[in-house]
Amino acid sequence: MLLTIIIYRRLLLLFLFLLSLGLVIYTNSTLPISNNSPQVQVINSTPARTLYKHFEYREAKANTLIEAGFYIRDGYSRPELLAKEAKESWHKMVIAAKDEGVNLIPISGFRSIKDQKVLWVNQVKRRGSEKEAAKRSAPPGFSEHHTGYAIDIADIDTPSSDLNSSFDQTPSYQWLSKNARQFGWENSFPVNNKQGISYEPWHWRYVGTSEGKRIFKSGREKYPV
Ligand SMILES: [Zn+2]
Repeated sequence: MLLTIIIYRRLLLLFLFLLSLGLVIYTNSTLPISNNSPQVQVINSTPARTLYKHFEYREAKANTLIEAGFYIRDGYSRPELLAKEAKESWHKMVIAAKDEGVNLIPISGFRSIKDQKVLWVNQVKRRGSEKEAAKRSAPPGFSEHHTGYAIDIADIDTPSSDLNSSFDQTPSYQWLSKNARQFGWENSFPVNNKQGISYEPWHWRYVGTSEGKRIFKSGREKYPV
């Protein structure tokens, strides 16, 4: 009889012990996670990488590029390439401008990262530091020209304004500032742009399609023009 009571008491104690253990585990699992615990982070989107305020761009694949016209000066002639949809819009724009007596020609369309490297090294030498160079040129991997959706435009009758701020005095620039938007083009680096890049009235990017908008999304959101 005594033995039976002792066994019952031990079983009861064991039961109570297990019950309290269960309660502790349950309570702990419902407590808020402490700061030391690993937490799940919600990442909306990966921000585009920047260098000296220039955004990183992928180089367009060669088979997506087509000839978009020639840079012609003093007997010299060089074909320039653009992505197909940018080229189509560019051609429409060239024809529309011509109808109004304005002659647009491309200076540079697509540019490879390899070619940008050469420009960049020279620019750094000229300006004395990468930081100063970046106000004038994009570091390799960070130029809008890599995409095939950007173009430097010249006025055929005014060679002295090629890649020069005086381009904004030409009929070509006057025409572009009035009409380019309706063809899906915008000037990437207008005067006093918040991006801090020197004024480039000749440099335009194509944002007339969802692909164009996607490519330049980060830059346009951060530094609207
Ligand atoms: Zn340019």
